Amino acid sequence: MRACLLEKYREFLPLTPETPIITLGEADTPLVRSLRLEKELGIGELYFKLEGCNPTGSFKDRGMVVAVAKALEAGSRALICASTGNTSASAAAYGAHCGLKVFVIVPGGYIALGKLSQAITFGAEVLSIDGNFDKALGMVRALIQKHPITLVNSLNLHRIEGQKTAAFEIIDTLGDAPDYLFIPVGNAGNITAYWRGFVQYQKASKRPRMMGFQAEGAAPIVRGGVVAEPKTIATAIRIGNPASWQGALAARDESSGVIDCVSDEEILTAYKLLASEEGIFGEPASAASLAGVIKMIKGELKLSTARVVCVITGTGLKDPDTALKSAPTLAEFPAQLEAVEEVIVSKL
Ligand SMILES: *Cc1c(COP(=O)(O)O)cnc(C)c1O
Repeated sequence: MRACLLEKYREFLPLTPETPIITLGEADTPLVRSLRLEKELGIGELYFKLEGCNPTGSFKDRGMVVAVAKALEAGSRALICASTGNTSASAAAYGAHCGLKVFVIVPGGYIALGKLSQAITFGAEVLSIDGNFDKALGMVRALIQKHPITLVNSLNLHRIEGQKTAAFEIIDTLGDAPDYLFIPVGNAGNITAYWRGFVQYQKASKRPRMMGFQAEGAAPIVRGGVVAEPKTIATAIRIGNPASWQGALAARDESSGVIDCVSDEEILTAYKLLASEEGIFGEPASAASLAGVIKMIKGELKLSTARVVCVITGTGLKDPDTALKSAPTLAEFPAQLEAVEEVIVSKL
C-alpha cells in the first residue's frame, strides 16, 4: 500500500503523536506532460497536475484529511462548511469515513449536481440557502462561535497545510520547482497553500512565479474590491470576497507573479481544448489555469523555454450540465450496420 498524505509528509504537517492517521487514498496525483498543447502554444514544457484524481474528485481532499484528523484529535463530533460544492463533498466523505456529523450550507441554485449528490449520499445534512457563498460562509462563522462544531472551510488553517503537499509532489516528480505555476483562484486558499509548499520544501533550487486566475465576473483580487454579486459558469471560483485574499497577494508579490482574470468564454475554450487535445476532463473552474496560460501568451509572455505546470483542480465529471450544454443533440440512427457505417466512413 502506498504511503498516505499524513504519513508521507508528516514532518511538514501540524501532527502530534495523538493525531489519528486517516486516509481515503488522497494525494500522490498524476503530473501529466502535455503531448500536443505545449507544441501548439509554443511552451518549453507543459504539465497538468490532475487533482481530480483525489478520492472525491478535487484537491480539497488534501486539506480535508488534515482538518478532519485534527478535529478527531480535538475530540470534535461534528464538522461544518459553506461550500460551492467540492468542499462539501470532501467534508462529507471524510466525515462519513470517521463517523462525524457533517453540516453543509450551500448557496441555492449554483451547485453542480454531481457535487451535491456526493454530499447527500455521504450522509451530510445539506442546507441550501437563498444567498451566495459569501453569505453561507458568514452563517458558518457565526454558528461555530455558538456551538461545538469544527469549521472545515479553508479558514481552517489545517486545510492550507494539507493542500501545500501538492507543491511538494510537483518538486519530487520534476526534480525541481517549475518556472511557472498556473492555478485557478476562488477563495485563494489553494494559491496560498502552493506558495507555502514551494517556500518550505528544501529540495528545489528555485521557486515558480505564481500565476493565479479568477473568473472575470468574480475577480475581487484583480479589481481590488469585494464583488457583491459574483457571476461565472465556473461555480468553484464564484467567490466575491476571498477568505485568503492576503495570502494570494503575498504569493503573487513574493514570487513576482500575476493575479489576473479570464472570461467565461476563455474558460470554456480552455475546458474544451483540455479535453479534446489532451484527454483531460477538468471542471470549468479548473480550466481557468489553462485559459490563463493562453491569455498570457497572447499578452506576449514568453514561455518557449519555460517549464509550466497548470493545476487541474477538479474533475469535470461532477458538472455534466456544462459539458452537454454546448454539445449537439445526438442524432438517432436505425439499428442497421450500413447506416452507422456510412457515417463512420464519411468521418474517417
Ligand atoms: C475550491 C476549488 C477551486 C478554488 O480554490 P480556492 O482555494 O478557493 O482558491 C478551484 N477549482 C476547484 C475544482 C475547486 O474545488
